[in-house]
Amino acid sequence: MSRKPAADYYDERRRSILSNETCDLDFTGKGIFEIILASPMEYGATMSSLRFQNTFRQLASWPETCCERAFYPDKDEFHWRSRYGHPAITLESGKSIKQCDLLFFTPTGEDDYIRMLEMMSISDIRLRGSERVSKWPLIIAGGTSVTANPLPLAEFMDAFIIGETEPSIGPVLDTIKSLGAQGASKKKLLRRLATLPGIYIPSVHEIPGRVSSIMRQWAGSDGMGMKSYFHSPDCLNSDITMLEISRGCPYNCKFCQPGYVSLPYRECKLEELESVIEGMDGVRTIALIGSSPRSHPDLKKIIRAAEKKGMEVVLCSNKYDDQIQDSGFHDDLTEKVMVLSPETGNDFLRRVIGKKLRNRSLLDSVDKHKDKTEKVRIYFMIGLPFECSEDRESILEFVREVRNRTDLPIEVFVNPFIPKPWTAFQWSAMANPTDLREWIEELENGFRKIKGVNAKYGDPREAHVRALLARGDHRVSGVLEEKLTGVGWNTAFKNAGINIRWVLEETDPEVTFEWGFLNMGFGHTRLAREYHASMSMNQGRFKDHEKDSDEEDD
Ligand code: SF4
Repeated sequence: MSRKPAADYYDERRRSILSNETCDLDFTGKGIFEIILASPMEYGATMSSLRFQNTFRQLASWPETCCERAFYPDKDEFHWRSRYGHPAITLESGKSIKQCDLLFFTPTGEDDYIRMLEMMSISDIRLRGSERVSKWPLIIAGGTSVTANPLPLAEFMDAFIIGETEPSIGPVLDTIKSLGAQGASKKKLLRRLATLPGIYIPSVHEIPGRVSSIMRQWAGSDGMGMKSYFHSPDCLNSDITMLEISRGCPYNCKFCQPGYVSLPYRECKLEELESVIEGMDGVRTIALIGSSPRSHPDLKKIIRAAEKKGMEVVLCSNKYDDQIQDSGFHDDLTEKVMVLSPETGNDFLRRVIGKKLRNRSLLDSVDKHKDKTEKVRIYFMIGLPFECSEDRESILEFVREVRNRTDLPIEVFVNPFIPKPWTAFQWSAMANPTDLREWIEELENGFRKIKGVNAKYGDPREAHVRALLARGDHRVSGVLEEKLTGVGWNTAFKNAGINIRWVLEETDPEVTFEWGFLNMGFGHTRLAREYHASMSMNQGRFKDHEKDSDEEDD
């Protein structure tokens, strides 16, 4: 039996993904301005993201544009493409990602950076912006990680959107279209884009220290309330329609980069949400999306509106508290899972890192909801600033407490803390990977003794690389280019002249980092104040210890 040529196989697969998809809106317009929205992740994970779907809607519905999507191929397809000289292609027509006027990348984190460059490289697009003579495609990136620190990709992208896309994308498209139609040079085009709010153009704003301010942009509550349009069995949770009810987070945990760079916390208006829900026909399950959907003051009314339309309601958040007890909703989109994010095992360290949850309320939630759920999932971090061995022991203690309350399976995720830009802990040291490995081993031994606990751990080495990419400057471009040649990360950093140990050391809070040239809407002073507040709070712990031991001595 003859085997199908790989090209036919992958083309058939692309067509099948496309035909499996349904879309509530018609995005097949044939504008003259061609955009490709490119994700450095595979189709299923990308299309499960409300933000990606919403960015696509914005681009595809702008006058005179047509927009296609491209996704990072799976491992086998990527190897085939790179080995036999086939470019990364769009889902809709199968054309190369090079064939457009605007290539818009949507990285979701630092892990995506190398995949973006791989997509460009196999598509015969010169990586460095300065080496791309042709004006088209213009290459832009937007997303949380590049909003916080675009410098690691600054040599490769022509422009960055700093902040949310809603307020910026229209002016960017209009400028590119009108100057493009006039035949303006790439240089002129980029200079004009650099005058728009929230747009960082590395070749124009080339000396970060001298840039007065590139202000992060965010949408008003009128521009919010995204809903999902695409449905496909190839996506996670294909039968669920997602609806954004809030953006930003009211809790301000000091380690959380998305929490800071999506400030301020905004809620969608009840009347608008009710009207969107009213217009949804044939929807069986709706997921209400937000960093903290339970904080919406009208949550009960929103749930009631959805239930009136016969929908089952699920919440998607990373925080579990107790605002609503009787609605029978669950907290995870794929299974009935109770998600707890205590981050650490005791109230004291949790307060120091700015998270306002208490063990008691978390454990009460387990008591109240255990009969309505099938599994408990708990997220912790280790290597947090000010953490000591007792704090790690308290993680085991917390899980034991959960076990004492329920026989449900318990899934535990333990991830190394990474000090990220624009957080109060941006000056903190990351724990040494060797120490992290040792602590993971201790936790593993402890969890083994608790029945029915399945624990998974973030890889310390990968976390270290992520920290170096997140906190890097222009020199990281050299690292990424080295990595593309196939060397390991350590060699790539070494060849680019970067000492990988620098993120393992604390930085003086007086220091302003390279990413400080951006204006996030809050500044160095606020972050330093929050950092010092944590430090003083932690010193209180040692004073209490000293007092206790003095009393014991007496
Ligand atoms: S509650 Fe969650 S999303 Fe909000 S700041 Fe804390 S960690 Fe971030």
